[in-house]
Amino acid sequence: MSENIVEIRNMTKQYGKQRALDDVSLRIKKGSIVGLIGPNGAGKSTLMKIMGGLAYPTNGELEMYGATDERGLNNARTRMSFMIEIPYAKENMTAKENLEKQRIQKGIPDKKRIDEVLKEVNLENTGKKKVKNFSLGMRQRLGLANALLGNPEFMVLDEPINGLDPSGIVEIRELFRSLNQDKDITLVISSHILSELSLLCTDYIFINHGKIKGIFTADELKAACSEYIQIDTDNNELAGALILNKCGINRLEVTKDSGIRIYEKLDEIRDISKILYDNGVIPLEIAKNEVSLEDYYMKMVNNEV
Ligand code: ADP
Ligand code: MG
Repeated sequence: MSENIVEIRNMTKQYGKQRALDDVSLRIKKGSIVGLIGPNGAGKSTLMKIMGGLAYPTNGELEMYGATDERGLNNARTRMSFMIEIPYAKENMTAKENLEKQRIQKGIPDKKRIDEVLKEVNLENTGKKKVKNFSLGMRQRLGLANALLGNPEFMVLDEPINGLDPSGIVEIRELFRSLNQDKDITLVISSHILSELSLLCTDYIFINHGKIKGIFTADELKAACSEYIQIDTDNNELAGALILNKCGINRLEVTKDSGIRIYEKLDEIRDISKILYDNGVIPLEIAKNEVSLEDYYMKMVNNEV
């Protein structure tokens, strides 16, 4: 059984007349990498701030490591770290100096931790370079190093990939993967660009206008976005039997409008039509379709799903 680190139940957050979260319920499993995906203004930061204790819900319940009361939640927050605003660092200081300042502020006794986290985020060779000369990717990684200082079990990262160039994105994705797999850290990462997080997350939560629009595992999202052949004929019952018996296809799906979907032999449309036709079934529609991740996301953003 997998343990939930966070559970949010029927949460609403109102800023005056603005409803930033509307009846949100979700769970974060231990060991997962959760992508919180939604356009600007969707409510991502609000949700993360509430987890971090930087904002409070108007209604609903937050449970972290089994605690729901404020004292228990604050205790749970010592096992976590949050990178919610743009990482703050002193421009005239080096990476090491910045981290040393943070270490003292956070009361972390272990001085060795600084070299460890610099190594973990690949900033160990920045030496005397001051933050003002850092690229955006280096700044993001310094923010992560800071978030790692206290050896968190769980990290909440608000748009950590925002503004990085493609090689920076690849690098930071690798870093997230290794934090998750090698250090066993559970991650929640927000983004308004789905493709930034695809192939990384184990779970995806889509949010828009403060409402949860969909929760998927990576496999479910992959299945929802795969290629298939859609078939409709004048006799779908017979067509189904022919597909299974004569086309070398092992599995088919009958869709709501009683059409047929197959996920194999996607390049054999002509052969499949011929077999159907030769056995007295008239194909009315037979076409390869694809629901791409981005199509799905755009539909979600536009409230079509
Ligand atoms: P996201 O991070 O997904 O871009 P936010 O959580 O920042 O979204 O914002 C969700 C909604 O709540 C937006 O409409 C935003 O304008 C509003 N909002 C966020 N913070 C505040 C605040 N402190 N005061 C008033 N409205 C806010
Ligand atoms: Mg935000």
